[in-house]
Amino acid sequence: MDMINDAKGFFDCAPGRVFVGAGPCGAESPEQLEQSAAALAATGQVRLMRAGIWKPRTRPGSFEGLGIPALGWLVEAGKRHGLATATEVATAEHAEAALKAGVDVLWLGARTTVNPFYVQEIAEALRGVKVPVMVKNPVHPELPLWLGAIERLHSVGLEDLAAVHRGFYSASAGVLRNEPKWELAVALREKMPEIPLLCDPSHIAGDRRWVTEIAQTALDLRYDGLLVEVHPRPESALSDGGQQWPLADFGRWLEALQVRSDERVLAELPADLLEVRTAIDAIDRGLVALIAQRFALLEPIAQVKKREGLALFQLDRWMEIVRTRKEWGEASGALPEALLQELFEVIHKHGLLEQVNAWRSLPPESLNRCAEGGC
Ligand code: PEP
Ligand code: MN
Repeated sequence: MDMINDAKGFFDCAPGRVFVGAGPCGAESPEQLEQSAAALAATGQVRLMRAGIWKPRTRPGSFEGLGIPALGWLVEAGKRHGLATATEVATAEHAEAALKAGVDVLWLGARTTVNPFYVQEIAEALRGVKVPVMVKNPVHPELPLWLGAIERLHSVGLEDLAAVHRGFYSASAGVLRNEPKWELAVALREKMPEIPLLCDPSHIAGDRRWVTEIAQTALDLRYDGLLVEVHPRPESALSDGGQQWPLADFGRWLEALQVRSDERVLAELPADLLEVRTAIDAIDRGLVALIAQRFALLEPIAQVKKREGLALFQLDRWMEIVRTRKEWGEASGALPEALLQELFEVIHKHGLLEQVNAWRSLPPESLNRCAEGGC
Protein backbone atom coordinates (compact mmCIF):
# COMPACT_ATOMS: atom_id res chain seq x y z
CA MET A 1 0.00 0.00 0.00
CA ASP A 2 1.22 3.50 -0.79
CA MET A 3 0.42 4.64 2.70
CA ILE A 4 3.01 2.29 4.11
CA ASN A 5 5.81 3.35 1.78
CA ASP A 6 4.99 6.97 2.33
CA ALA A 7 7.72 9.07 3.88
CA LYS A 8 5.17 9.92 6.58
CA GLY A 9 4.43 7.37 9.24
CA PHE A 10 1.66 4.86 8.63
CA PHE A 11 -0.31 6.05 11.67
CA ASP A 12 0.03 9.78 10.93
CA CYS A 13 -3.10 11.75 10.05
CA ALA A 14 -3.90 15.25 8.92
CA PRO A 15 -4.52 17.75 11.75
CA GLY A 16 -7.97 17.36 13.26
CA ARG A 17 -8.26 13.74 12.09
CA VAL A 18 -7.44 10.51 13.87
CA PHE A 19 -6.24 7.12 12.69
CA VAL A 20 -8.91 4.41 12.65
CA GLY A 21 -8.22 0.70 12.56
CA ALA A 22 -11.07 -1.76 13.03
CA GLY A 23 -12.04 -5.34 12.40
CA PRO A 24 -13.13 -8.54 14.05
CA CYS A 25 -11.44 -9.93 17.12
CA GLY A 26 -10.65 -13.11 15.21
CA ALA A 27 -10.64 -14.14 11.55
CA GLU A 28 -13.44 -16.70 11.32
CA SER A 29 -14.16 -17.23 7.61
CA PRO A 30 -13.42 -15.66 4.20
CA GLU A 31 -17.01 -14.30 4.14
CA GLN A 32 -16.68 -12.63 7.52
CA LEU A 33 -13.50 -10.87 6.41
CA GLU A 34 -14.95 -9.89 3.03
CA GLN A 35 -18.06 -8.40 4.67
CA SER A 36 -15.93 -6.62 7.22
CA ALA A 37 -13.54 -5.15 4.66
CA ALA A 38 -16.40 -3.97 2.42
CA ALA A 39 -18.25 -2.26 5.27
CA LEU A 40 -15.13 -0.73 6.82
CA ALA A 41 -13.96 0.66 3.48
CA ALA A 42 -17.45 2.09 2.88
CA THR A 43 -17.15 4.28 5.99
CA GLY A 44 -14.34 6.15 4.24
CA GLN A 45 -12.68 6.58 7.64
CA VAL A 46 -10.91 3.29 8.24
CA ARG A 47 -7.34 2.78 7.09
CA LEU A 48 -6.59 -0.60 8.59
CA MET A 49 -8.51 -3.85 9.05
CA ARG A 50 -7.48 -5.94 12.04
CA ALA A 51 -8.21 -9.64 12.65
CA GLY A 52 -6.58 -12.11 15.00
CA ILE A 53 -5.24 -15.23 13.28
CA TRP A 54 -3.61 -16.69 16.38
CA LYS A 55 -5.72 -15.90 19.44
CA PRO A 56 -4.02 -15.91 22.83
CA ARG A 57 -6.75 -17.24 25.12
CA THR A 58 -6.45 -17.15 28.87
CA ARG A 59 -7.98 -20.63 29.30
CA PRO A 60 -7.56 -23.54 26.87
CA GLY A 61 -10.55 -24.83 25.00
CA SER A 62 -11.80 -21.53 23.60
CA PHE A 63 -11.39 -20.35 20.01
CA GLU A 64 -7.65 -20.09 19.39
CA GLY A 65 -7.74 -18.73 15.85
CA LEU A 66 -7.61 -20.44 12.49
CA GLY A 67 -3.89 -19.95 11.84
CA ILE A 68 -2.10 -19.76 8.48
CA PRO A 69 -5.06 -20.37 6.09
CA ALA A 70 -6.84 -17.31 7.45
CA LEU A 71 -3.86 -15.04 6.66
CA GLY A 72 -4.66 -15.23 2.95
CA TRP A 73 -8.35 -14.43 3.51
CA LEU A 74 -7.40 -11.34 5.51
CA VAL A 75 -4.86 -10.07 2.98
CA GLU A 76 -7.17 -10.71 0.01
CA ALA A 77 -10.16 -9.00 1.63
CA GLY A 78 -8.00 -5.99 2.54
CA LYS A 79 -6.63 -5.72 -1.01
CA ARG A 80 -10.08 -5.96 -2.60
CA HIS A 81 -11.26 -2.96 -0.59
CA GLY A 82 -8.10 -0.87 -0.37
CA LEU A 83 -7.50 -1.44 3.33
CA ALA A 84 -4.19 -2.24 4.96
CA THR A 85 -4.37 -5.34 7.17
CA ALA A 86 -3.04 -6.20 10.60
CA THR A 87 -2.77 -9.27 12.78
CA GLU A 88 -1.31 -10.17 16.15
CA VAL A 89 2.05 -11.96 16.26
CA ALA A 90 3.23 -13.71 19.40
CA THR A 91 6.28 -15.57 18.05
CA ALA A 92 8.96 -15.07 15.40
CA GLU A 93 7.22 -17.77 13.31
CA HIS A 94 3.94 -15.84 13.42
CA ALA A 95 5.74 -12.67 12.30
CA GLU A 96 7.46 -14.46 9.42
CA ALA A 97 4.25 -16.16 8.26
CA ALA A 98 2.26 -12.92 8.43
CA LEU A 99 4.84 -10.98 6.43
CA LYS A 100 5.14 -13.79 3.88
CA ALA A 101 1.37 -13.73 3.38
CA GLY A 102 1.48 -9.97 2.78
CA VAL A 103 -0.04 -8.65 6.03
CA ASP A 104 0.83 -4.93 6.14
CA VAL A 105 0.96 -4.21 9.87
CA LEU A 106 1.72 -6.42 12.89
CA TRP A 107 0.77 -6.01 16.51
CA LEU A 108 2.10 -7.37 19.76
CA GLY A 109 -0.66 -8.35 22.17
CA ALA A 110 -0.81 -7.61 25.87
CA ARG A 111 0.33 -11.13 26.77
CA THR A 112 3.42 -10.72 24.57
CA THR A 113 4.47 -7.20 25.61
CA VAL A 114 4.61 -8.52 29.15
CA ASN A 115 7.60 -10.75 28.34
CA PRO A 116 10.90 -9.22 27.11
CA PHE A 117 12.07 -12.63 25.79
CA TYR A 118 9.09 -12.87 23.43
CA VAL A 119 9.44 -9.25 22.36
CA GLN A 120 13.15 -9.63 21.64
CA GLU A 121 12.54 -12.80 19.64
CA ILE A 122 9.96 -11.03 17.48
CA ALA A 123 12.20 -7.97 17.16
CA GLU A 124 15.04 -10.16 15.86
CA ALA A 125 12.72 -11.69 13.27
CA LEU A 126 11.86 -8.17 12.08
CA ARG A 127 15.42 -6.82 11.92
CA GLY A 128 15.84 -4.99 8.63
CA VAL A 129 12.13 -5.33 7.68
CA LYS A 130 10.07 -2.22 7.00
CA VAL A 131 6.74 -2.90 8.65
CA PRO A 132 4.56 -0.81 10.95
CA VAL A 133 4.09 -2.45 14.35
CA MET A 134 1.55 -1.68 17.07
CA VAL A 135 2.49 -2.49 20.64
CA LYS A 136 -0.33 -3.12 23.06
CA ASN A 137 0.24 -2.32 26.70
CA PRO A 138 1.29 -5.26 28.90
CA VAL A 139 -1.44 -7.07 30.85
CA HIS A 140 -0.38 -5.53 34.14
CA PRO A 141 0.27 -1.84 34.71
CA GLU A 142 4.05 -1.71 34.42
CA LEU A 143 4.98 1.24 32.21
CA PRO A 144 8.66 0.24 31.70
CA LEU A 145 7.57 -3.04 30.06
CA TRP A 146 5.49 -1.14 27.52
CA LEU A 147 8.30 1.35 26.88
CA GLY A 148 10.83 -1.50 26.76
CA ALA A 149 8.89 -3.39 24.10
CA ILE A 150 8.78 -0.28 21.91
CA GLU A 151 12.50 0.29 22.47
CA ARG A 152 13.35 -3.31 21.56
CA LEU A 153 11.46 -2.97 18.27
CA HIS A 154 12.96 0.43 17.57
CA SER A 155 16.46 -0.85 18.17
CA VAL A 156 16.21 -3.37 15.31
CA GLY A 157 15.40 -0.54 12.91
CA LEU A 158 11.59 -0.45 13.04
CA GLU A 159 10.54 3.17 12.77
CA ASP A 160 6.82 3.02 12.21
CA LEU A 161 5.63 2.09 15.68
CA ALA A 162 2.43 2.88 17.57
CA ALA A 163 1.39 2.20 21.16
CA VAL A 164 -2.07 0.72 21.75
CA HIS A 165 -3.75 1.30 25.09
CA ARG A 166 -6.03 -1.68 25.84
CA GLY A 167 -6.24 -1.39 29.60
CA PHE A 168 -4.80 -3.43 32.45
CA TYR A 169 -5.88 -6.54 34.30
CA SER A 170 -7.17 -5.96 37.79
CA ALA A 171 -7.89 -8.67 40.34
CA SER A 172 -10.95 -6.81 41.60
CA ALA A 173 -14.06 -7.20 39.51
CA GLY A 174 -15.04 -3.85 38.05
CA VAL A 175 -17.48 -2.65 35.43
CA LEU A 176 -14.79 -2.69 32.74
CA ARG A 177 -12.93 -5.77 31.55
CA ASN A 178 -9.59 -4.00 31.86
CA GLU A 179 -8.86 -0.97 34.01
CA PRO A 180 -7.94 1.94 31.74
CA LYS A 181 -5.44 3.65 34.05
CA TRP A 182 -5.41 6.59 31.63
CA GLU A 183 -2.54 8.18 33.50
CA LEU A 184 -0.19 5.38 32.42
CA ALA A 185 -0.95 5.84 28.74
CA VAL A 186 -0.51 9.58 29.11
CA ALA A 187 2.82 8.94 30.89
CA LEU A 188 3.92 6.77 27.96
CA ARG A 189 3.09 9.58 25.57
CA GLU A 190 5.10 12.02 27.68
CA LYS A 191 8.12 9.73 27.57
CA MET A 192 7.74 8.92 23.87
CA PRO A 193 5.96 11.86 22.26
CA GLU A 194 6.96 10.72 18.76
CA ILE A 195 5.07 7.39 19.10
CA PRO A 196 1.40 7.65 18.03
CA LEU A 197 -0.92 6.55 20.81
CA LEU A 198 -4.03 4.58 19.85
CA CYS A 199 -6.86 3.42 22.10
CA ASP A 200 -8.45 -0.02 21.90
CA PRO A 201 -11.76 0.78 23.62
CA SER A 202 -13.12 -2.73 22.98
CA HIS A 203 -10.64 -4.56 25.21
CA ILE A 204 -10.82 -1.88 27.90
CA ALA A 205 -14.63 -2.10 27.95
CA GLY A 206 -15.23 -5.82 27.46
CA ASP A 207 -18.85 -4.85 26.85
CA ARG A 208 -20.39 -2.85 23.99
CA ARG A 209 -22.22 -0.62 26.45
CA TRP A 210 -19.00 1.14 27.50
CA VAL A 211 -17.07 1.22 24.22
CA THR A 212 -18.31 4.61 23.00
CA GLU A 213 -17.58 6.43 26.21
CA ILE A 214 -14.07 5.04 26.36
CA ALA A 215 -13.36 5.91 22.73
CA GLN A 216 -14.60 9.48 23.28
CA THR A 217 -12.49 9.82 26.44
CA ALA A 218 -9.43 8.77 24.44
CA LEU A 219 -10.20 11.34 21.76
CA ASP A 220 -10.68 14.04 24.39
CA LEU A 221 -7.27 13.07 25.77
CA ARG A 222 -5.91 13.74 22.24
CA TYR A 223 -5.04 10.15 21.37
CA ASP A 224 -3.87 9.75 17.78
CA GLY A 225 -6.39 7.08 16.90
CA LEU A 226 -8.56 4.09 17.67
CA LEU A 227 -8.31 0.36 17.14
CA VAL A 228 -11.83 -1.04 17.50
CA GLU A 229 -13.29 -4.53 17.33
CA VAL A 230 -16.27 -4.86 14.98
CA HIS A 231 -18.09 -7.94 13.75
CA PRO A 232 -20.84 -8.58 11.18
CA ARG A 233 -22.77 -10.59 13.84
CA PRO A 234 -21.23 -9.99 17.27
CA GLU A 235 -23.77 -12.28 18.95
CA SER A 236 -22.29 -15.27 17.12
CA ALA A 237 -18.62 -14.21 17.22
CA LEU A 238 -16.20 -16.97 18.20
CA SER A 239 -14.33 -14.67 20.59
CA ASP A 240 -15.06 -11.39 22.42
CA GLY A 241 -18.63 -11.21 21.09
CA GLY A 242 -19.86 -8.97 23.90
CA GLN A 243 -17.44 -6.16 23.15
CA GLN A 244 -17.47 -6.07 19.33
CA TRP A 245 -19.42 -3.27 17.64
CA PRO A 246 -21.97 -4.37 15.02
CA LEU A 247 -20.37 -3.78 11.65
CA ALA A 248 -23.54 -2.42 10.03
CA ASP A 249 -23.64 0.42 12.55
CA PHE A 250 -19.94 1.22 12.62
CA GLY A 251 -19.99 4.15 10.17
CA ARG A 252 -22.70 5.87 12.20
CA TRP A 253 -20.78 5.13 15.40
CA LEU A 254 -17.63 6.75 14.02
CA GLU A 255 -19.58 9.80 12.85
CA ALA A 256 -20.95 10.32 16.36
CA LEU A 257 -17.49 10.49 17.93
CA GLN A 258 -16.00 13.94 18.16
CA VAL A 259 -12.45 15.08 17.70
CA ARG A 260 -12.58 18.21 19.83
CA SER A 261 -9.89 20.79 20.37
CA ASP A 262 -8.69 21.32 23.95
CA GLU A 263 -10.43 24.70 24.02
CA ARG A 264 -13.76 23.18 23.03
CA VAL A 265 -13.51 20.40 25.61
CA LEU A 266 -13.09 23.05 28.31
CA ALA A 267 -15.53 25.63 26.95
CA GLU A 268 -18.28 23.05 26.61
CA LEU A 269 -18.49 22.22 30.31
CA PRO A 270 -22.05 23.16 31.32
CA ALA A 271 -22.78 25.22 34.42
CA ASP A 272 -24.71 22.44 36.17
CA LEU A 273 -21.71 20.12 35.81
CA LEU A 274 -19.50 22.72 37.46
CA GLU A 275 -22.07 23.04 40.25
CA VAL A 276 -22.06 19.32 40.98
CA ARG A 277 -18.27 19.32 40.86
CA THR A 278 -18.21 22.03 43.53
CA ALA A 279 -20.41 19.84 45.75
CA ILE A 280 -18.12 16.86 45.12
CA ASP A 281 -15.07 18.95 46.04
CA ALA A 282 -16.68 19.83 49.39
CA ILE A 283 -17.42 16.17 50.13
CA ASP A 284 -13.90 15.09 49.16
CA ARG A 285 -12.45 17.76 51.44
CA GLY A 286 -14.46 16.21 54.28
CA LEU A 287 -13.30 12.72 53.29
CA VAL A 288 -9.66 13.78 53.37
CA ALA A 289 -10.12 15.31 56.82
CA LEU A 290 -11.70 12.05 58.07
CA ILE A 291 -8.87 9.96 56.67
CA ALA A 292 -6.38 12.27 58.38
CA GLN A 293 -8.19 11.65 61.70
CA ARG A 294 -8.00 7.91 61.11
CA PHE A 295 -4.29 8.15 60.33
CA ALA A 296 -3.65 10.10 63.54
CA LEU A 297 -4.63 6.92 65.45
CA LEU A 298 -1.93 4.81 63.82
CA GLU A 299 0.95 5.88 66.01
CA PRO A 300 -0.85 5.01 69.29
CA ILE A 301 -1.87 1.66 67.85
CA ALA A 302 1.71 0.90 66.73
CA GLN A 303 2.88 1.76 70.26
CA VAL A 304 0.48 -0.71 71.87
CA LYS A 305 1.41 -3.46 69.42
CA LYS A 306 5.09 -2.89 70.10
CA ARG A 307 4.57 -2.88 73.85
CA GLU A 308 2.56 -6.11 73.70
CA GLY A 309 4.82 -7.84 71.21
CA LEU A 310 2.07 -8.11 68.61
CA ALA A 311 2.71 -8.24 64.87
CA LEU A 312 1.71 -5.08 63.01
CA PHE A 313 -0.43 -7.00 60.55
CA GLN A 314 -3.28 -8.81 62.27
CA LEU A 315 -5.09 -11.07 59.82
CA ASP A 316 -8.27 -11.45 61.90
CA ARG A 317 -8.61 -7.70 62.30
CA TRP A 318 -8.06 -7.15 58.57
CA MET A 319 -10.74 -9.71 57.68
CA GLU A 320 -13.09 -8.04 60.15
CA ILE A 321 -12.44 -4.62 58.63
CA VAL A 322 -13.25 -5.83 55.12
CA ARG A 323 -16.36 -7.73 56.23
CA THR A 324 -17.87 -4.99 58.35
CA ARG A 325 -17.17 -2.17 55.88
CA LYS A 326 -18.85 -4.17 53.13
CA GLU A 327 -21.83 -4.79 55.42
CA TRP A 328 -22.07 -1.08 56.19
CA GLY A 329 -21.87 -0.33 52.49
CA GLU A 330 -24.65 -2.80 51.77
CA ALA A 331 -26.77 -1.29 54.54
CA SER A 332 -26.29 2.17 53.01
CA GLY A 333 -27.86 0.74 49.88
CA ALA A 334 -25.69 2.57 47.40
CA LEU A 335 -22.12 1.35 47.61
CA PRO A 336 -20.83 -1.59 45.57
CA GLU A 337 -18.88 -4.23 47.47
CA ALA A 338 -15.91 -3.96 45.10
CA LEU A 339 -15.56 -0.25 45.87
CA LEU A 340 -15.37 -0.86 49.61
CA GLN A 341 -12.98 -3.76 49.15
CA GLU A 342 -10.57 -1.66 47.09
CA LEU A 343 -10.99 1.45 49.20
CA PHE A 344 -10.14 -0.32 52.44
CA GLU A 345 -7.30 -2.25 50.83
CA VAL A 346 -5.66 1.07 50.01
CA ILE A 347 -6.44 2.65 53.37
CA HIS A 348 -5.23 -0.41 55.24
CA LYS A 349 -2.05 -0.76 53.17
CA HIS A 350 -1.05 2.85 53.80
CA GLY A 351 -2.12 2.55 57.43
CA LEU A 352 0.29 -0.36 57.84
CA LEU A 353 3.10 1.62 56.23
CA GLU A 354 2.44 4.43 58.70
CA GLN A 355 2.55 1.93 61.56
CA VAL A 356 5.87 0.55 60.32
CA ASN A 357 7.29 4.09 60.35
CA ALA A 358 5.87 4.80 63.80
CA TRP A 359 7.28 1.48 65.03
CA ARG A 360 10.75 2.29 63.77
CA SER A 361 10.78 5.65 65.46
CA LEU A 362 9.87 4.18 68.88
CA PRO A 363 12.74 3.80 71.41
CA PRO A 364 14.87 0.67 70.85
CA GLU A 365 14.40 -0.68 74.41
CA SER A 366 10.85 -1.71 73.56
CA LEU A 367 11.96 -3.53 70.37
CA ASN A 368 10.35 -6.92 70.13
CA ARG A 369 11.94 -9.32 67.68
CA CYS A 370 8.82 -11.42 67.24
CA ALA A 371 6.60 -8.47 66.45
CA GLU A 372 9.03 -6.81 64.04
CA GLY A 373 9.38 -10.05 62.10
CA GLY A 374 5.63 -10.47 62.05
CA CYS A 375 5.90 -13.99 63.46
C1 PEP B 1 -7.08 -8.75 20.49
O1 PEP B 1 -6.76 -7.64 20.04
O2 PEP B 1 -8.00 -9.44 20.05
C2 PEP B 1 -6.36 -9.22 21.70
C3 PEP B 1 -6.29 -10.50 22.04
O3 PEP B 1 -5.87 -8.21 22.36
P1 PEP B 1 -5.10 -8.03 23.78
O4 PEP B 1 -3.68 -8.44 23.52
O5 PEP B 1 -5.27 -6.57 23.99
O6 PEP B 1 -5.80 -8.87 24.80
MN1 MN C 1 -10.38 -9.52 21.06
